[in-house]
Amino acid sequence: MIDSLAHIGIAVKDLEASTKLFQALFGKPSDHAELVPDQKVKTAFFHMGQLSIELTAPTDSDSPIAKFIAKRGEGIHHLSFAVDDLEQELARLRAEGFQLVDEKPGAGAGGHPVAFLHPKSTNGVLIELCQRSETGKS
Ligand code: ZN
Repeated sequence: MIDSLAHIGIAVKDLEASTKLFQALFGKPSDHAELVPDQKVKTAFFHMGQLSIELTAPTDSDSPIAKFIAKRGEGIHHLSFAVDDLEQELARLRAEGFQLVDEKPGAGAGGHPVAFLHPKSTNGVLIELCQRSETGKS
C-alpha cells in the first residue's frame, strides 16, 4: 500500500541558480543538499511540512534528468511516495501490471533505497517509491 507523498521532484538545469530562486520564493534556505551518484544528479531539498520539494539537476549529460530536460524542459519531474517495504511494493506493483524502470531498488538521496515506475504505465507521471527510514523522514 502507498499511503504518503514524501516529495515532489523538480528537474532543473542549474542547481545553484534554482536553489536561490526557490529560496527567494519560499523565504527560507534549503534544508539539505546532496550528490546522488547512483542517479547522476545533485539535489536540494526544501522541507514543507510533511512534504519536501526536491530540486534535481543532472551531473552528467547521460543522466536521466538531462534527457528529461532536453525533451521536456525544466519542471515537475516526479512524485515520490514513501513505502514501508520497497521490495514488497515492487512485487505487488509488478503483479498489478505496472512497468518498473528499476527491477531492483537503487540508492537515492540519503542512501535510501528508491525505485521508479515507468510513466507509460502511470498516465505519464513518473513515480518514485522510496523506502521509509526509521525516523519517518525520507
Ligand atoms: Zn525524488
